[in-house]
Amino acid sequence: MTQPIDTAHLWMPFTANRQFKQKPRMLVAASGMHYTSDDGRQILDGTAGLWCVNAGHCHPKITEAIRRQAGEMDFAPMFQMGHPAAFESATALAAIAPEGLNRVFFCNDGSEGVDTALKIAIAWQRMRGDTLRTRLIGRERAYHGVGFGGIAVGGIAGNRKHFGPTLASVDHLRHPLDIGRNAFSRGLPDHGAEIADEFEQRLLALHDPATVAALIVEPVQGSTGVILPPKGYLQKLRAICDKHGILLIFDEVITGFGRLGAPFAADYFGVVPDMIVCAKGLTNAAVPMGAVIVRQDIHDDFMRASAEGAIEFYHGYTYSGHPLAAAAMVATMGVYRDEQVFERAAAMAPYFEDAAHSLRGLPWVKDVRNLGLICGIELEPVPGKPTARAFDAFLKCFWDKGVLIRTTGDIIALSPPLIIDRAQVDQLFGAIADVLKAQS
Ligand code: PLP
Repeated sequence: MTQPIDTAHLWMPFTANRQFKQKPRMLVAASGMHYTSDDGRQILDGTAGLWCVNAGHCHPKITEAIRRQAGEMDFAPMFQMGHPAAFESATALAAIAPEGLNRVFFCNDGSEGVDTALKIAIAWQRMRGDTLRTRLIGRERAYHGVGFGGIAVGGIAGNRKHFGPTLASVDHLRHPLDIGRNAFSRGLPDHGAEIADEFEQRLLALHDPATVAALIVEPVQGSTGVILPPKGYLQKLRAICDKHGILLIFDEVITGFGRLGAPFAADYFGVVPDMIVCAKGLTNAAVPMGAVIVRQDIHDDFMRASAEGAIEFYHGYTYSGHPLAAAAMVATMGVYRDEQVFERAAAMAPYFEDAAHSLRGLPWVKDVRNLGLICGIELEPVPGKPTARAFDAFLKCFWDKGVLIRTTGDIIALSPPLIIDRAQVDQLFGAIADVLKAQS
């Protein structure tokens, strides 16, 4: 018999701590598409951990690369020093990024990536003499991590409300979710591209475009329940940014590395931003790492703007380009390429879409939306108890069905590893269907 675990001392992130500790859900091992729970059950991973284990768990090539690097060199400073794996990983990332985006700044996660990109944007505008351009624009219901920059441009009230007075000068675009017109869309919704026009007609008119440094958007909003860009919407945002000299940042922390069947959402949509923030699938989540991929001329402007021998950008983290993360990242890129992981996602997407939409008509299902290997299932809330219905489904899927799903509000969000097969797609949606049918 294993000893019961003392759960008292850990303050858990984004968790109902007291509720969890009454009946902990513990995962102790992982392989491929599955976790093993502490009671020995196999749990099908319907969420790739947290949208991050794109090639499946404990991939032997990634594990081996980390092991080798840990035995060779544990850490090396990157301030005024370097080590080969960091440069190799930047080259590997630039090789799969959209054309023109080929300079890479490393950090440890998505939150740091967002803050780094926002800082680059403001610093770049200032460097070019646009000193008034300090305002940042985000979107309602956006999630850009939990740094001060990220919660400022983020649009989730719960993440912001305690910190309101300290947040930077930002404004927010309306999110494009419109269930009234787009319920049960397959792929991109038909309606709502005109919401992008509000960026120019309302926000820029209000603030003066000459005060705006950057717009940041998730091409597909994930954390607040899968909000898809209507057809033509991202193209409009790009055009408005171009017209007014505003940088466009794509937060691809969840859409990067094959989630839509292409390396980045930028490729999928054919819309190239000025910077891409990525993390999660960057190392298949085996070691924390984030990155900002920057347009070359933006980077080059920084190089030109300061004297030879001077530090060009006063920013960085102790663990920027950490050797273990860099080794994991290079191995991950190799796995994505050699095992055609992105292509597998693209090939599975139509089957996944059909399975997702088979839930239409089941009790409580008011919308199903999908793109690539992402799906959102929006449920009717229990009157007076928001979040209860989806959370109950989450618990039943975990305990009774051996399937891990994720919920946000009353929305189930699915994002399995990209190696999922048809039988596992059936198991995932079958479990949700059973649980919904049984809910009173
Ligand atoms: N940006 C987006 C779009 C995300 O979904 C997340 C995390 O889910 C983040 C940023 C923050 O990333 P991290 O939790 O690695 O800091």
